[in-house]
Amino acid sequence: MYSEKTCEQCGTCLEQCPFLQFPIESAKREISKMIETRTSRKIINNCASCSYCNVICPTGSNPYSLIREIRLKDYRENGVRSVGLITEEIPYNLMSIALEINTEEKQRGLNEYENPPKNSKMFYVGCGIPYCFPDLTNTSLLEDLPLLGGMKYCCGGYVHSYFGEDEARIKGLELYEKFKALGVEKLITFCPGCDIMIKGIYPSIIEGFNVEGQTIIEYFIELYHEGKLNIKNKIDQRITFQDPCPWRMLDKKIYDSPREFLEIIGADVVEMKHNREKSLCCGAPLMIRNRSLSTEIAKKRISEVEHVKADIIAHICTGCLATLSRHATEKNINSYYITELAQMAIGQQPLKNILENTENLNKQVMKTIAKNPKLLTEKYIMKNGKLNRF
Ligand code: SF4
Ligand code: SF4
Repeated sequence: MYSEKTCEQCGTCLEQCPFLQFPIESAKREISKMIETRTSRKIINNCASCSYCNVICPTGSNPYSLIREIRLKDYRENGVRSVGLITEEIPYNLMSIALEINTEEKQRGLNEYENPPKNSKMFYVGCGIPYCFPDLTNTSLLEDLPLLGGMKYCCGGYVHSYFGEDEARIKGLELYEKFKALGVEKLITFCPGCDIMIKGIYPSIIEGFNVEGQTIIEYFIELYHEGKLNIKNKIDQRITFQDPCPWRMLDKKIYDSPREFLEIIGADVVEMKHNREKSLCCGAPLMIRNRSLSTEIAKKRISEVEHVKADIIAHICTGCLATLSRHATEKNINSYYITELAQMAIGQQPLKNILENTENLNKQVMKTIAKNPKLLTEKYIMKNGKLNRF
């Protein structure tokens, strides 16, 4: 909760926000207007919902909660564009557009992820991997458990972000029933958005929600300590890790695991200026709303990688992977998803087609928007678990 009592209206949150960068006096005026009116056009247009402001507020007043309140009010009053709604209920969103590329192959994977055999433990691959980067699951490292994912099993992160706790509770209860029907007790997660829903949000809003979450990184570390991950090729390079924004809502211990895993595979781990809970967003959330600002932020992030002379930037979020890989490559920095690094360490060769996939996806999004310009204006609202045209 935002604490108006402790907030000194100093403006630090908006001045140091990587996206808004208000001059200090305007920042103070804006925050006082936000408190009074619960509105801000600048926040609606350019805030990436990264929650960085929460960790830099000197009084611990949680400005992101105020920002979230303003955003949710705007979505209620003006609806939400379809692109970010990960559901088969509507014709176009980022995932359905991605499915238009290599449809047959992706559909084969989805059939598997949406109809797994019953098991108490599963790899929860979310939506980004099956629709945008399906080759990331093409490894023997993921052969021991069934894979679960796709829009049918979407974690509901978008419901929580756009429509608030009450709608997220409805989505979570539906999902929990599906998990129980499959006998799921533990999910090995790949997406930081799924992490906060399974480990943070659902346990706090759904009584008795009882599914354990473990990140794929923590799972690899566990395998290694059990002697089941045989490191054949040490990756003796300088590697930095892109901490994803959603992790800010979880226990800080989560930040230790990527560092520990990178050391296990032989890396010299180096830290960007902004790291762990003070990490900077990759810019992905603004890709559609404000592409030039998104690019500016992504380039700034890569300049931090250059500054520490890292050879590789490692990711756990496919959004960060898609957004930062091109800019990293332009600076001769390799960009890998964490499972690709694990593959290399055990002597497998990842397909390394992230850039190609990202570029094809960008082209497909542009093509689809050009054919259906309404995509940018059609809006939806959710009520009692049902999406309706706004
Ligand atoms: S929320 Fe924190 S950083 Fe923002 S104005 Fe209030 S005290 Fe300052
Ligand atoms: S959530 Fe992120 S983008 Fe939004 S105001 Fe806070 S720091 Fe800026």
